[in-house]
Amino acid sequence: MRVLLVEDDPMIGAAVLDALKDAAYAVDWVRDGRVALGAATDQHYDLVLLDLGLPGRDGMEVLAGIRARNNPVPLIVITARDDLEHRLRGLDGGADDYVLKPFHTRELLARTRAVLRRKGGQAGALLGNGRVSLDPATHEACVSAGAPVRLTQREFALLQALLVRPGIILSRSDLEDRIYGWGEEVESNAVEYLIHALRRKLGADVIRNVRGVGWMVAKGA
Ligand code: CA
Repeated sequence: MRVLLVEDDPMIGAAVLDALKDAAYAVDWVRDGRVALGAATDQHYDLVLLDLGLPGRDGMEVLAGIRARNNPVPLIVITARDDLEHRLRGLDGGADDYVLKPFHTRELLARTRAVLRRKGGQAGALLGNGRVSLDPATHEACVSAGAPVRLTQREFALLQALLVRPGIILSRSDLEDRIYGWGEEVESNAVEYLIHALRRKLGADVIRNVRGVGWMVAKGA
């Protein structure tokens, strides 16, 4: 899952960046509203976390700009403005949720999971395709309702990317986009290495290779 974090406060931004990375998200952090709008236009994101008070462009303008381009990306507003008017403007302007400053990063992560779940059309807390299930809160996977298996952050990120849409093939660069943020070095065989590790932990047939195209998990396996 790739997240665009838009926050000009260095302390808050660094804390949220660390928390997101610890939860295995690939994160691009920008500090300016104009840059944020450009990034959201150029790159596919699974989620935007948007502060409202920003240099360049105000957060509300960034939100309006994203939605004006028909970009349905899940978006959580981060705001210090605890007044009803701002919250209503954010939600009516197309935000999916909001978090009030100061907030605990654990609450932000829980809201993030909830928004991604709703936007992904799932009711429950687990991702799955009937054969393998994945818990975004604990990073544990289960195959055929067997014992839970702990995954590393990147193993989790890769399996999550596939399980969000079972039956859809993701290429190597699709997967790299969802696992690595800006400035993170990607080894040339990193995706193959992670697939290999996941198959060893979960069984070789859990992830299918479509030769020359990419990888997928079966739909309704
Ligand atoms: Ca700010």
